[in-house]
Amino acid sequence: MFKKNVVIIGCGIAGPVLALALHRAGIKSEIFEARNESDTDSGLFHYISPNGMNVVNILEIYDKIKNVGYDCNGVIHYDENGNIFATMDETNEKEIYGVGSIMIQRKVLTKALREEVVSKGIKIHFDKKLKNIENTADSKIVAHFEDNFNTQGDLLVGCDGIHSRTRHIIMPNIPKPTYTNMIVSGGYTNIPLKDKNSNIIHTNYCKKAFLAYCILPDGEIWWWNGMSYPQEQSREELERISDEKWHRNLINLYDEDHDVVKELVHATSKKFLKYPIYEMPSIETWYKNNVCLIGDAAHALSPHAGQGASMAMEDAMMLAKCLRDVKDIQKAFEKFQQLRKKRVEKIAKIAHDVGENYFLTSPIKKRFRNISMKLMYTPFIFNRMAKFFFGYDVEWDIKVK
Ligand SMILES: Cc1cc2nc3c(=O)[nH]c(=O)nc-3n(C[C@H](O)[C@H](O)[C@H](O)COP(=O)(O)OP(=O)(O)OC[C@H]3O[C@@H](n4cnc5c(N)ncnc54)[C@H](O)[C@@H]3O)c2cc1C
Repeated sequence: MFKKNVVIIGCGIAGPVLALALHRAGIKSEIFEARNESDTDSGLFHYISPNGMNVVNILEIYDKIKNVGYDCNGVIHYDENGNIFATMDETNEKEIYGVGSIMIQRKVLTKALREEVVSKGIKIHFDKKLKNIENTADSKIVAHFEDNFNTQGDLLVGCDGIHSRTRHIIMPNIPKPTYTNMIVSGGYTNIPLKDKNSNIIHTNYCKKAFLAYCILPDGEIWWWNGMSYPQEQSREELERISDEKWHRNLINLYDEDHDVVKELVHATSKKFLKYPIYEMPSIETWYKNNVCLIGDAAHALSPHAGQGASMAMEDAMMLAKCLRDVKDIQKAFEKFQQLRKKRVEKIAKIAHDVGENYFLTSPIKKRFRNISMKLMYTPFIFNRMAKFFFGYDVEWDIKVK
């Protein structure tokens, strides 16, 4: 049994899931999070697919998480005229994978995960922004924080997201995340939309941008859009753009689109969340000495395949399993990377390609996209793809060799 202490940096998604998985493996950890306890990143909403929910299931919090989210029964794709050109049916996921996908607000998901962490007696230290990491002569690590606090552990796991400080400290010379010239913004509304089913993601490939929405059983609509935005701005800078101005931008952006999209954009709540979208170039190794990276810190993928949170959860579970079964820390990290990298990079490539498809201008390319997506959702192709994405299992009960 691994008797060491793990220092976890970041309490977004990978951090708390790792702490819970380590606890299950009998390994002690503590989490250090830069934000204040009350400052939960309000975020937008996440689609958590069966592979992510499978991790949640292993941690025995499936019902807890599912009950604060909403079942997702499928995706319908509409062309720029509002005609359906492809559909993905997710109603039978429970029978196939044992768990179904959900839509959940980010703040609700992180709250539920944190509550579970605390209920297991694992400490979360807030207002602890990692500044530096020191390797000691006796092979331990000391994490130094901005407020001069420090803590010692046997190993440290960076779960501190796409702009990871941990990554920067251990690999100062690797390329930074690249801005994709794209922004995702989103919000809430509750106008009645005729003939549209609830618990389905309706994705619209509009004339100049992309817009998706999901109607909840109580009629509330969660929507998000992807749009080209060449001027790189941080989240803070984007937040300073007034909601009125952003709303006007959106109305202009979708003014030539079909009625449902226009109606939704006009009627939306006037509070918008905006995210610049980055991708992390592939890095050769996810660890150095006693420090390992997981989740977005290791491999942030663009959000267009709805897999970032699920990848972070899979990583966390797999790293805990490797640390449980492989005594030597370096070898455990090596095994972890070996078991994860190929899958993550394949999904990152797909997520990138999905994003590229949002902004086609050529009518021929648009037509080709619609036909290829229609083909992709035919049972023969889709079932194989879904098995790869959704059928993934960390095989928690099987020992790592
Ligand atoms: C607009 C948008 C929509 C998305 N939609 C989906 C979706 O539908 N489905 C999906 O699966 N994924 C989605 N994603 C991706 C998903 O949000 C990420 O992949 C996921 O949150 C990664 O989890 P993480 O724990 O690695 O990082 P994060 O969730 O980013 O958590 C990192 C944590 O580390 C903390 N931190 C940062 N720096 C420090 C420091 N120096 N010291 C201490 N703590 C620090 C942060 O405050 C944060 O709490 C979306 C992303 C975006 C931007």
